[in-house]
Amino acid sequence: MQTARLATPRGTRDVLPPASERIRSLTGRFAETAQRAGFRQVITPIFEHAEVFRRVGESTDIVSKEMYEFRDKDQRLMALRPELTAPLARAFANHRPRTPWRVWYEGPQFRYEKPQAGRYRQFNQVGAELIGSDDPQADAEMLALAWRFCEALGLRQVILLINSLGSPADRAAFSSALGSYFARRLGDLSEQGRATLAVNPLRLLDSKRPEDRLAAAAAPDIAEFLSKEAAGHFQTVLDALGRLGIPFAIEPRLVRGLDYYRHTTFELRSLALDGAQDAVGGGGRYDGLVADLGGPPTPGVGFAMGVDRLLLACDAEDAFDVQEQDLDIFVVDVIGGVEATLLADEIRQAGISAERAFDKRSMKAQMKAADRSGARFALLIGAEELASGTVTLRDMRRDDGEAPRGAQVRIPRGAVCEEILRRLAVEARTPA
Ligand code: AMP
Repeated sequence: MQTARLATPRGTRDVLPPASERIRSLTGRFAETAQRAGFRQVITPIFEHAEVFRRVGESTDIVSKEMYEFRDKDQRLMALRPELTAPLARAFANHRPRTPWRVWYEGPQFRYEKPQAGRYRQFNQVGAELIGSDDPQADAEMLALAWRFCEALGLRQVILLINSLGSPADRAAFSSALGSYFARRLGDLSEQGRATLAVNPLRLLDSKRPEDRLAAAAAPDIAEFLSKEAAGHFQTVLDALGRLGIPFAIEPRLVRGLDYYRHTTFELRSLALDGAQDAVGGGGRYDGLVADLGGPPTPGVGFAMGVDRLLLACDAEDAFDVQEQDLDIFVVDVIGGVEATLLADEIRQAGISAERAFDKRSMKAQMKAADRSGARFALLIGAEELASGTVTLRDMRRDDGEAPRGAQVRIPRGAVCEEILRRLAVEARTPA
């Protein structure tokens, strides 16, 4: 029983250092990329009224099968967010900010999926939305943002698949043609496929089941149903990608089941990842969403990327090597009491990173700990130092494979920060 209680729930993980540092670093990189493009962060609650998702995604697995729903103590139906586009559109409808609203976000999402490598029940996403413009250049801008972010991570094996779902009328005509097509092949579909057909024939195109895939092989192509205006929008986006030097492949099977999706839809896949979990991000235009949630009709375009998946892709490509944070000082305290606490506090306030020992352990044990910590210098404080108002600074730099050099100097207690800063600055200028 004990082990069952210690383990995390299925599909979730404890992320310890250094893996946690990579997540933070990747998220930070995304924040920088987005802020540089004029996007600003929005933080919405991790749980919402379930209706926010139910209203717009009833026909999707994410909402109908995978959502974590619960009643709160007042019996309101709540949901842990399975994605962030709907909450952001809700926030937009609620606050009516000036458009175009350019926002980015990060944080955990929850889906009751079958866990496997790269597929979790709690996973992190970063993403961005541009709400209030139907300019095809806005689609291009979002695509560029997602693509350049992958490049910044050092990913070279990511491909961009893109498609257009056209206007609502184009979509409806396509959906009805698909419906008739699959109705003629009812016997070839999987049982679940037949159920999907009844709800939304479009969704059969992204079914992963082999029978459905085979049945879909000769399905009509959305391109034949695009109005002149929709085809023009799509072509403008593709031309922009060409001018930006961003490679893409048109994938007519790339559809989004939700009715609020219009025009551009895209996915970023990593060729370095296993087929079933190779999507590192996806997005598109959702001109109907804000209105569906009760706001004024407002176009929008955006994307979300899976942080955990991106990191798996980085691992597979040997990219995005995060340097572990260097530690400047390890305070070795052989007297106990408050002195080491004061010393560590003072040097941290001066902007120097410092760790320290506790429990008045032996000098030898503490020096070992200092060595393990990777600190650049050890700062020793013993009875002699205390009496003479000094501290001892010991050089912990190692020459490959050897013990720390151990050169040490006594410095006046009052000059300690100044001296450390001076030494660190000299080294920054002349790397070892
Ligand atoms: P979606 O909202 O389904 O388009 O997902 C956007 C991105 O989030 C995907 O491309 C994945 O990288 C990531 N993602 C989606 N579901 C999961 C999951 N269960 N575990 C890990 N990452 C996920």
